[in-house]
Amino acid sequence: MECLFCKIVDQEIPATIIYENEDVMAFKDINPEAPVHLLVIPKKHIPSFAHLTQEDNEVLMPKIFVAIQHLAREFELEEEGFRVVNNCGTNGGQTVGHIHFHLMGGRRMVWPPG
Ligand code: IMP
Repeated sequence: MECLFCKIVDQEIPATIIYENEDVMAFKDINPEAPVHLLVIPKKHIPSFAHLTQEDNEVLMPKIFVAIQHLAREFELEEEGFRVVNNCGTNGGQTVGHIHFHLMGGRRMVWPPG
């Protein structure tokens, strides 16, 4: 299996795993761009946002967003605010081909992103 994040799910390569349930995993970004920078992923391999099926949208994505909300709470990001980012495809700046959501907080973000 070539997918980097599938290897993290399978614990074939190390990561600082922060949260895990049957369907979702969150771990620290290896190159953090903010004091809190987590990646929240489905364990199922989905290449990008553009590849989500209707079933993914109805069943899996709500679980991702529940996990993000849980983590924002756990890292006490709610009062000051935080950012959730999905980069999709080449123009979106996606570099790892397994859908993931960046949860970033602990500093003031700028807009628009690069
Ligand atoms: P993308 O650019 O939205 O695809 O984000 C990919 C993210 O994965 C980047 O922020 C990378 O720093 C991060 N990343 C790449 N390899 C690893 C790893 O092995 N562990 C944790 N994060 C990683």
